[in-house]
Amino acid sequence: MSVIAMKFGGTSVGDAEKIRAAARRAVNAHKKGHQVVVVVSAMGKSTDQLVALAEQITPNPPKREMDQLLATGEQVTISLMAMALEEMGVEAISFTAGQIGIVTDDVHTKARIKRIDVRRIRDALENGRVVIAAGFQGVTESGAITTLGRGGSNVTLVALAAALNAEVCENYTDVDGIYTADPRLVPTARKLDRISYDEMLELSSLGASVLHNRAVEFAKKYNVPIHVRSSLNNRKGTMIVAETEDMERIVVSGAALKDRLARITLREVPDRPGVAAKVFHTMATNRIVVDDIIQTTDESGRATVSFTVEPGDLPEARAVVDKLRDDMGCKALYEDHLAKVSVVGVGMRVHTGVAERMFEALAAAGINIENITTSEIKLSCLIDRDQGAKAMQLVHDAFDLGEGGRKTRVPKSAKAGRKKKSSPKAGRAKAAKKSPKRKSKSKKK
Ligand code: ADP
Ligand code: ASP
Ligand code: MG
Repeated sequence: MSVIAMKFGGTSVGDAEKIRAAARRAVNAHKKGHQVVVVVSAMGKSTDQLVALAEQITPNPPKREMDQLLATGEQVTISLMAMALEEMGVEAISFTAGQIGIVTDDVHTKARIKRIDVRRIRDALENGRVVIAAGFQGVTESGAITTLGRGGSNVTLVALAAALNAEVCENYTDVDGIYTADPRLVPTARKLDRISYDEMLELSSLGASVLHNRAVEFAKKYNVPIHVRSSLNNRKGTMIVAETEDMERIVVSGAALKDRLARITLREVPDRPGVAAKVFHTMATNRIVVDDIIQTTDESGRATVSFTVEPGDLPEARAVVDKLRDDMGCKALYEDHLAKVSVVGVGMRVHTGVAERMFEALAAAGINIENITTSEIKLSCLIDRDQGAKAMQLVHDAFDLGEGGRKTRVPKSAKAGRKKKSSPKAGRAKAAKKSPKRKSKSKKK
């Protein structure tokens, strides 16, 4: 019998009526003869409320206790959802991550799943029950409760879908699918019928909060197609799938905004082998996730190393970097005023002119670019946070991503004139020209 895995996000289970509506979807699938696993998030904004509550107690809550607290949100929903199903005459059973055996590492607040023991779920499914699993949470080998990072219920969904070899993986949310940009920020954004794993992975990592990037990583690794759709209607949403050749005809598929980023800069660092290794080894051992790294060297043989971090990690990172600064006798600067606007598309591998168009759009509006990073399929600009929303709209417009916009689609007939995959990208050349002294890398550490 085929397994259907579905997940309902916070807004889709925001009150009793919404929980009932979600339960009805599970009942319908069950009645069609499928084995159904439902993953749920905490109700509405309850995770935010728990975070706010912790902040009233202390500005720096211990991460283990934060997980202990936040995991309660999902436990409320699983039990209510199971009750709703039982009330509809369908047998259901709810499980916390500990009960199912979703084992993670011990990196509290952003734990990674190591393995899942699906035996208990399988037994319940074989007995005709609908299984309701708590999203977002895990448990360490020693039994401590962990969470998978904000928005982590998507990760639970895809991990369970992969482990159970589910036929369908449906992510029910409060939008009709994946849009060319966050529709809350860009009202003209257009819904996409499908998008490749790689593009979605970039978009999620670059700020599209609709899916957690690790959920997309899992989906790609295990080749699980995800259907992102609305819990408010029955319209077809967006399929996140393996790349097909025709996807490269679209140069830019979407834009994303990471609206809050902090930057740490180390100045007057001795420019000798092993220094960068020392800096990033220290960050890694302190479990601080580092994003874009830039190193430049001046004539005096001293280097400047800067990197971005999540603002939430800044206090911890600061303590670590202050010590490094003292050890190395250099200077440290901390900034928390940045945002990052990006465009993503697999077509960038074979088409030129993306950088030019993006930089011109930002320049025309007087938006200063503080740094540029590229990968094969994305181009990102670090800018001032106050200009983030405006930059997103400008970039979206510049690539005609909205309704009716098709300028960035290259007709099939133009394929012959396309650039070879191996040739250097104009985008990168342009980026290098813009900031000649910068060696810009986009390594996720
Ligand atoms: P859920 O609680 O269902 O997980 P989230 O709030 O986590 O919902 O994610 C859905 C939200 O993601 C949408 O309301 C939308 O504002 C935001 N979002 C960001 N980028 C995109 C995008 N490219 N396409 C669709 N939604 C996006
Ligand atoms: N409840 C968690 C959060 O708000 C996880 C999720 O919704 O996916 O981040
Ligand atoms: Mg979410």
